[in-house]
Amino acid sequence: MKPGTSSASAALAALIARSQRIVAFTGAGISTESGIPDFRSPGGIWSRMQPIDFRDFMSSIEMRREAWRRKAVIDQDFQQAAPNRGHRALAALVSHGAMSAIITQNIDGLHQASGVPADKVIELHGNGTYATCLDCGQRYELAPIMVAFERDETVPECDACGGIVKSATVSFGQAMPQAAMARAQAESTACDLFIVLGSSLVVYPAAGFPALAKRRGAKLVIINREETDQDGSADLVVHGEIGATLGEAVGVA
Ligand code: NAD
Ligand code: ZN
Repeated sequence: MKPGTSSASAALAALIARSQRIVAFTGAGISTESGIPDFRSPGGIWSRMQPIDFRDFMSSIEMRREAWRRKAVIDQDFQQAAPNRGHRALAALVSHGAMSAIITQNIDGLHQASGVPADKVIELHGNGTYATCLDCGQRYELAPIMVAFERDETVPECDACGGIVKSATVSFGQAMPQAAMARAQAESTACDLFIVLGSSLVVYPAAGFPALAKRRGAKLVIINREETDQDGSADLVVHGEIGATLGEAVGVA
């Protein structure tokens, strides 16, 4: 063991060294060290603001206006956030060819910002750094939407088709993206090491992927501050901080 390396990081490093095809599965916990609050910890985003589900978003322009109000608040954290040591360690594993994909529940775009090619990031819950038209799929950047919204609470509509424009995230009650789900399933099936980082593993169907990987013969690692329901089936469980644990294991500062 290298000096200063914890036994958890050493055990993780040994598993990584023995693996040919590693998949990471990240949740809100990997981004808390970047200053983005997670979902369920005290003081987290949703203890302050309940998410608006898809049916309500579609039901009236007033609900959409409320959704954009909440988006404006959450965006303050997003805009200031930069990738942290955990993101950088994953980027190193991808660039060395050891990690075939990062399946993420996050919507903050920080894996791509850390240098991971977009085609290696599988976003299960979409991306909150831009918006799309729900009818024609046209992409819209957030900055002009937020400027108009902050001016007079203008709710965006599609210039091309008049459709409803929504942050490109998957809301509760909205269909999961089929292509991303299929890719996540294929990667979970094909990997020999599956590493969960900062997910409470309570949001399904996303939380089904660690169990799938394990059933198909992969080793399962869970790094999370608190216990999860799947700790019992993992080969290594670390109840600690992601940045330090993974950074030490991969040798990234
Ligand atoms: P979650 O909030 O349910 O769970 C996060 C887990 O990470 C918690 O168990 C917490 O103890 C742990 N954690 C927090 N910081 C940690 C750290 N530094 N080291 C180790 N563990 C840490 O998050 P989830 O499972 O991803 O589900 C929440 C949903 O909310 C996701 O589907 C996601 O779409 C959305 N969300 C996204 C973001 C983001 O994009 N950054 C932020 C909040 C919520
Ligand atoms: Zn449109």
